[in-house]
Amino acid sequence: MARILIAGAGIAGLTAAGCLLLAGHEVEIYEQAPELGEIGAGIQQSANATHVMRHLGVLDALEEMAFLPPVTEFRLFDNGEVLQALALAATHKERHGAPYLQLHRADYHAVLAARIEALDPGCIRLNATAAGFRENRDGVTLLLADGSAIAGDVLIGADGIKSAVRRQIAGENRPHYTGDSAWRLTVPVERLPPGFLDAKSSIWVGPGKHAVIYFLRGGSLLNFVGAVELEEEIEESWTQKRPWTELKADFDGWHPDILTIIEAADRDACFRWPLNVHPHLDRWSTARATLVGDAAHPMLPYMAQGAAVAAEDGAILTRTLAGAGSVPEALALYEAHRKPRARRVVDESRDNRRLFHLPDEAALRAAFAGRNLDRERSDWLYNYNPLTVDL
Ligand SMILES: Cc1cc2nc3c(=O)[nH]c(=O)nc-3n(C[C@H](O)[C@H](O)[C@H](O)COP(=O)(O)OP(=O)(O)OC[C@H]3O[C@@H](n4cnc5c(N)ncnc54)[C@H](O)[C@@H]3O)c2cc1C
Repeated sequence: MARILIAGAGIAGLTAAGCLLLAGHEVEIYEQAPELGEIGAGIQQSANATHVMRHLGVLDALEEMAFLPPVTEFRLFDNGEVLQALALAATHKERHGAPYLQLHRADYHAVLAARIEALDPGCIRLNATAAGFRENRDGVTLLLADGSAIAGDVLIGADGIKSAVRRQIAGENRPHYTGDSAWRLTVPVERLPPGFLDAKSSIWVGPGKHAVIYFLRGGSLLNFVGAVELEEEIEESWTQKRPWTELKADFDGWHPDILTIIEAADRDACFRWPLNVHPHLDRWSTARATLVGDAAHPMLPYMAQGAAVAAEDGAILTRTLAGAGSVPEALALYEAHRKPRARRVVDESRDNRRLFHLPDEAALRAAFAGRNLDRERSDWLYNYNPLTVDL
């Protein structure tokens, strides 16, 4: 069994840690923040991720605090016409063997962190910023910003979109602004009309912007993400508040249901941040260090897959370490297996920007009429089980 060092305790780092601990490895996680946590917004996890959550022993706890939507509807921005629907709830579980969950990020992260603590108390080190690493034939040394050096057999960079580990593996890889910024807010459902949207989740598509709406915490909280094309953007930050009046102006002329949500929002809790992406990486790994999650494959959130693909990464990396003859072979196999799939998810998420933001109703209707998103995603995205897929 190997001694494995992980930089970053986000969803990717914690999921990888859980899979590796269950496989019998020694794991230490180095997290830069002074405390663990996630932002107050929603996250969706499809079967390709929830298989892994079942394996980690946290699926029941997550299901209890989640919302299981009956369906996601794609709707026109102004008149609400349903263009297409994805069957979720029982259908998703039957087709793919695991549920589709809509979760509060803080709940999701807390459940994962508690599970890691239970598996190996004290393995998460806080206030520990990865600055780089050294490696030789026999091992790898993680170098922290405070000057300490920790020796291990494998280093996993799970340190997110600005990854220090990636910089060393793949060189400088500057993010670029996609042209879209995302509003995010949550609204307690008691502020909304009874039976609002029949608790369905929905993606409202329109010229130059779209809105994603779904429910959390057993249906008690509504999550809203509004992606808008904006030429100029402020510095990347998930905690950047913007005036409510800007949000209202951005969705001027949209359907009354969208305006109802905006009216019910806390005026001083409307956040907006720029969506950045990176070019595809040519390499994810050296002989002893590799990447998972946003460090490896940041993507637009337009298929709700960033964290789901991160969960797949941890499960596959654990399997390749078990099956290969050496660490370098395991990391090479991991990268070879993961890269094409992650690229596809990144590219299709990016392509959805075009689909969701077409300039008028006629173009949107025609584009959706030519697609069957339910079948497409079932065929290749949701039916991938990282615990059993051929390597
Ligand atoms: C609007 C929006 C909606 C989304 N919706 C979904 C969704 O519905 N479903 C889905 O699957 N995905 C979704 N995503 C994507 C998802 O949020 C990310 O892919 C996921 O959170 C990435 O997790 P991560 O652990 O790789 O990175 P992060 O969450 O960024 O975690 C990285 C961790 O590493 C730490 N760190 C950073 N640098 C260092 C360092 N040098 N040393 C030590 N620690 C470090 C950070 O503090 C952090 O704890 C969405 C994204 C956005 C923007």
